[in-house]
Amino acid sequence: MKASPADQQELLRLQSLDTRLQQLAHRLGALPQTAPLAELAKRHTAVRGTRAEAVGALEGARAELTRLESDVAIVEARIARDGDRLQHTSSVKDVTALESELASLARRRSDLEDQELVVMQRVEDAELRVADIDEERATIESEVEKLQAERDEAAAGLTKEREAAERDRDVVAGGVPAELLAFYEQRRARGAGIGAALLRQRTCQGCNMTLTGSDLDTVRRAAADDVLLCPDCDRILVRTEESGI
Ligand SMILES: [Zn+2]
Repeated sequence: MKASPADQQELLRLQSLDTRLQQLAHRLGALPQTAPLAELAKRHTAVRGTRAEAVGALEGARAELTRLESDVAIVEARIARDGDRLQHTSSVKDVTALESELASLARRRSDLEDQELVVMQRVEDAELRVADIDEERATIESEVEKLQAERDEAAAGLTKEREAAERDRDVVAGGVPAELLAFYEQRRARGAGIGAALLRQRTCQGCNMTLTGSDLDTVRRAAADDVLLCPDCDRILVRTEESGI
């Protein structure tokens, strides 16, 4: 294939824009916030599970407290009723029985009140635990918000850079003859994103191999408008005054 040295050198500009576009695509696909956000999402899920357990414990303690309060109310009603009956009876036998029952009810009430204190402490502890978890959850959520905002901003910046590079590429590609451009695209598809490389100091910048012997002779003998391929990596080899041949 033939192409003017100037057109061939345009391929190097095109290549540098394509390399830049590839790097931008890579950066967009691997934004630094992605991994910490995934980690935070995991922590958020774990905290939700812990909170459900803590709320379960709190509800259990509250239910137990309600039951104890109701037991105390029943005992107190019974104490009031027995006290009333005690005042209105003249039977010594009844008095003895009522007094004994009242003593037993008083013990029962005291016992229930002791249990109430223990359960009240459990309710309080469980409330604190839920509050701690809520605080942790809020911290995670605000961290997520901050990272998402950073990520979106970084993505927007990179997208803008990509759009600018795409416009530049369109301009450069528009100036390259169609046949040469198609050849470059074909080499680029096969050359892991690199279709054209500069020959600098007899070394291909695509594969870093130095031309020697008959390969070097071939390049030296080639006409300036011959489109050459690197004998090692098969990419378009572009000669400039830096080529050292
Ligand atoms: Zn090469």
